[in-house]
Amino acid sequence: MTRLYVDLALVPGQELELPAPSAHHARSVLRLARDDDVILFDGRGAVHEARLTLVARESVRALVGNAIAVTTESPLDVSLVQSISRGDRMDYTIQKAVELGVRRIVPVTTRRTVVRLDARRADKRLEHWRGVLQHAAEQSGRGLLPELAPVTSLDAWLGAHGGAGGFLLHPAAANPLARQPRPTVPVVLFAGPEGGFDEAEVERLGRAGVTSVSLGPRILRTETAAVCALAVMQALWGDLA
Ligand code: SAH
Repeated sequence: MTRLYVDLALVPGQELELPAPSAHHARSVLRLARDDDVILFDGRGAVHEARLTLVARESVRALVGNAIAVTTESPLDVSLVQSISRGDRMDYTIQKAVELGVRRIVPVTTRRTVVRLDARRADKRLEHWRGVLQHAAEQSGRGLLPELAPVTSLDAWLGAHGGAGGFLLHPAAANPLARQPRPTVPVVLFAGPEGGFDEAEVERLGRAGVTSVSLGPRILRTETAAVCALAVMQALWGDLA
């Protein structure tokens, strides 16, 4: 069943106009027609049956039906603080992280981040990433739309959220992620860029209470690392357990 994200209140019995991106998706990409059944979700946990009442060039409308229980959210609350990687690698990370149940993605610049974004380009990237995230949420049947934080530097983020604890993915770490005790608080996962974190960053993260952990003896690409870590955590402590 087609799922469409709409940033609107979902009230049974009420008819609503789909926002432009989902209207376009429904009409031009999925080629849905009047009377087709869909599922609408507001990204905040409300998921409803719905039926399209109008599919036209200028407007797509739906009649909201009953709420459906959300059964696709992991009990594990994971934020991914991901050093921005090049082009489609970052898209891959975002898409797969959403499929694997991440709650929040924070794109950060680190000392060895290759991608340089001024404010205007950062806004354009964020808009693009939001599209990737929304599609992944629709496709994978999420009830919550993961949050996408604005681009910031790792230092600035730690300044604001220091002491948050969490795991730093570090190839040289002695402790495997899979041997860590089950976290009792929301988890923050830090994944480095193509060139890794530098020593000063590793130290600073350590002082902020972040535990360095390994994903095994091979060096994974940045876009593999976060995805692998999320799968490990869901298997040990989340909804794959
Ligand atoms: N030459 C770099 C490699 C970076 S790989 C270095 O030695 O640090 C890119 C990112 O993926 C790393 O910063 C780390 O966060 C993650 N990563 C890759 N392989 C890993 C492994 N085996 N264990 C833990 N994290 C890993």
